[in-house]
Amino acid sequence: MTSRASTLPRARGPNKKAAQASPKKPKARASLFSARTRLLGSENAFRIGPQIKALEDQGLKVIKCNLGEPDFPLAPHIAEEVKRQIDLGLTHYCDPQGILPLREAVARTVAQRRGIEVTPDRVVVFPGAKPPIGLAQQVYCDPGDEVIYPSPGFPIYESFTTYVGARPRPIHLREESDFSYGGDELAPLVSDRTRVIILNFPSNPTGSVVTRGQLESIADAILRRAPAQARVYSDEIYEDILFDGNQHHSIASVPGMAERTIIVSGVSKSYAWTGGRVGWAVFPTAEEANVFKNLNINYFSCIPAYNQMGARAALESPLSRQSIAAMREAFTQRRDLMVAGLNAISGIRCRKPGGAFYLFPNIEGMCENLGAIEAHRRMPAADRGRTSPSTLVQMFLLWRYQVATMDRRSFGRLGSAGMHYLRLSIATGIEDLRTGLERIRAAAADRAGFRAFLKEGAHLW
Ligand code: PMP
Repeated sequence: MTSRASTLPRARGPNKKAAQASPKKPKARASLFSARTRLLGSENAFRIGPQIKALEDQGLKVIKCNLGEPDFPLAPHIAEEVKRQIDLGLTHYCDPQGILPLREAVARTVAQRRGIEVTPDRVVVFPGAKPPIGLAQQVYCDPGDEVIYPSPGFPIYESFTTYVGARPRPIHLREESDFSYGGDELAPLVSDRTRVIILNFPSNPTGSVVTRGQLESIADAILRRAPAQARVYSDEIYEDILFDGNQHHSIASVPGMAERTIIVSGVSKSYAWTGGRVGWAVFPTAEEANVFKNLNINYFSCIPAYNQMGARAALESPLSRQSIAAMREAFTQRRDLMVAGLNAISGIRCRKPGGAFYLFPNIEGMCENLGAIEAHRRMPAADRGRTSPSTLVQMFLLWRYQVATMDRRSFGRLGSAGMHYLRLSIATGIEDLRTGLERIRAAAADRAGFRAFLKEGAHLW
């Protein structure tokens, strides 16, 4: 058999002599995949889908608190517009930067809401708000540059940092501060290698929000310490999902910040349209927008024009305000029910999130009561590294009680050891949530069941 190495070109030394002195061939790579590929993480909320399916195939009902996807239908005024545009024949390639009517609508709404100026030539449309995360890291980071991102945070932030060879600088959020922060917490992480600073308010997975004052202090730390080329990546996808009269604040509204900030949002959450795959970013300059447009050309060509017209209707129709308000109302009710219910379970402590549709309860007591921390400590080292106490509880809840949740490690691995949390999405009907709560209550008291689950050893990560 031909080895992989024999098909690779020989290494060339800087001159003939040196080549003779070091006749070494390049080391054959054992893996099919590049080192970079092996560094790419994932979003586990999608990964556990097949496990849920396996349980459902056994006839079991799974309460799905795993996915960040509103369980509401697409509003009729948006759906009608998409259908109308298909009938009008808007089914061909279109502007890779995003069609002008949508970019104009984005520029208008982003500008109005944040009190800043935005022109359509700085707007780029993507297939969702997810792609610009990795693309921005590719565009702004060379290997060794640094990316600051929240942890716990949306997993793609950390996953792409390592993928592009940048250095991850997680900002560890604290429960005592409602998982929010200001300039004092950010400043020590900023260095002259900082290139991207990711903010995400309201936040996934904690539902934390930020005050205008906190954003001002974050901006102050950035303006004082970060190099001029550093960009703030402000992921504002949950901008409409706010509770208790909270208002959305964007760092781009702070004087001096619009020039450095990429504002990102989309239709997935505000309009319950995760399948539409329309997201957008507003860049500080048209020059930057052009770079991303070219990446779109390289990767996606363009985003379906009929969906972009639907997104425009979503942004511009007064009917959208009603559908957002109805969703917010339902989420508030569910949040209140679940926070009270979880806090009544021994070993669980849950803060009330100010936005998004996630709860992030501390389950350290539950892990202890069930024996998960001790069991994890005693696992063989190789297995221990693959799982965590909250992962064991997550798997126990899924396989023995059919409640799908996410573990702490799914939201940034670095520095997650010893953090015992779960994320529960409340984007599920209230009756299912009630059932889920009862199942979690039963699971939290089922020490014998947990021991048997560990002994069986089938789904420990
Ligand atoms: N950012 C955050 C913080 C998210 O939670 C999500 C979706 N879960 C996204 C971006 C991506 O959303 P989409 O690609 O569906 O627009």
